[in-house]
Amino acid sequence: MSFTDLGLSAAILEAVEQQGYDTPSPIQAQAIPAVLEGKDVMAAAQTGTGKTAGFTLPILELLSGGKKVKPNHIRTLILTPTRELAAQVCESVSLYGKNLPLTSAVVFGGVKINPQMQKLRGGVDVLVATPGRLMDLHGQRAVKFDQVEILVLDEADRMLDMGFIRDIKKILALLPKRRQNLMFSATFSDEIRELAKGLVNNPVEISVSPRNTTVQSVEQWIHPVDKNQKSKLLIKLINDGNWRQVLVFTRTKHGANRLTKSLEAVNISAAAIHGNKSQGARTKALANFKAGEIRVLVATDIAARGLDIEQLPQVVNYELPNVPEDYVHRIGRTGRAGASGNAVSLVMADEFKQLIDIERVIQKHLTRELVKGFEPANPLPKSPAIRAIKAPRPKKPKVDHQDGQRSGEMASGHKPVSKNRRHMGGQQPSQNKSQNQNQSNNDGNAKPNNRRRRPSRSSHQAAKPA
Ligand code: AMP
Repeated sequence: MSFTDLGLSAAILEAVEQQGYDTPSPIQAQAIPAVLEGKDVMAAAQTGTGKTAGFTLPILELLSGGKKVKPNHIRTLILTPTRELAAQVCESVSLYGKNLPLTSAVVFGGVKINPQMQKLRGGVDVLVATPGRLMDLHGQRAVKFDQVEILVLDEADRMLDMGFIRDIKKILALLPKRRQNLMFSATFSDEIRELAKGLVNNPVEISVSPRNTTVQSVEQWIHPVDKNQKSKLLIKLINDGNWRQVLVFTRTKHGANRLTKSLEAVNISAAAIHGNKSQGARTKALANFKAGEIRVLVATDIAARGLDIEQLPQVVNYELPNVPEDYVHRIGRTGRAGASGNAVSLVMADEFKQLIDIERVIQKHLTRELVKGFEPANPLPKSPAIRAIKAPRPKKPKVDHQDGQRSGEMASGHKPVSKNRRHMGGQQPSQNKSQNQNQSNNDGNAKPNNRRRRPSRSSHQAAKPA
């Protein structure tokens, strides 16, 4: 299939071609026609699958045919959990829409509100926003929702993890009832499905394999090492491997700052990206990293969420994440769009529990390599055999005796969603067993309660990654 088969206009196809894409990714092939038909879409897809173009291209197509936007109004609202993701999505909107007479803007917290109000004054066709700042702008009458035709909820699972559910519900209540809804989420927990019930109508359900980097394109291994040797080992690896662009994950903001200083002390250019940094500092760090001006970007998990850095060759887990699924997200920063990448983890004995949790989620043992001179005094115990992840048992449907409907059935005649179904739509029959296994391992539903929960934010607090 090619992009020309999807029903997009020449102006959009030209922009796509200029990006160098020749074949639509699986999510694009499925989502673009559905969105063009005006259908609601519920898609299980992570960053890296091409989902942004999957919703942006058809939205631009639909908008280019419609009415002109009124002052302070918007025609499409794209909600994202983090500022970085919002900025990137808006960048994609302007790239793909550069040959169209449509306007776009991005709004998020942590920066001045006035320039955003000014931008909105003339109205914008596509607004990308984080929930907190959007609520502030709406409260100040800088943005009006009654012309909204399309709503996109991007990374819905992250939105919930970050405590945005109340803001989202408030925003939904303010939007016109008649609109097209597109919902994207890497995982589909019961909570997400609950949210979907009030959002999408008779949706086209799309499920694409996460760019499952744990299988093919990313080579992964660990270096067992003591805690006090980690920074020295990282410096050695960067120097010996002549790594020019490496994304390093730490668990804490302070850890990220400390490590950045240690790297700079030995003349390895580095910058940290986390929630205590101003938006300006984060944007600058990311731009410098993308431009190859700094070699190492040290990030916490939430700050790195949604970062799209093309063909990042090297990811390092300086510390293992507490939530095993975050490991999969982290290494998903490399090996993008079929490119190969390396993911190396520096693991001390105290991180053994995190290691075995990760090995269970990815369903394989990570190769261990000792580095000469860095053999740990506290050796890492041997990993136990990997236990298979069992699918939860289907629950018996409860019968609501009043109307005879099964409880859990969606309003407006939607199909009920069985709680044990892990992915929307199901797998392509052609997918092999290991792909299936990895997909279900990474959707987070195998262990629904082990995802991080954050306290709800006040409705006026801006999206602020950790
Ligand atoms: P996303 O999942 O939207 O974050 O996209 C991930 C990356 O894939 C981005 O760098 C896009 O530029 C790239 N991309 C999107 N669509 C395609 C395509 N059809 N072919 C090749 N690369 C693509």
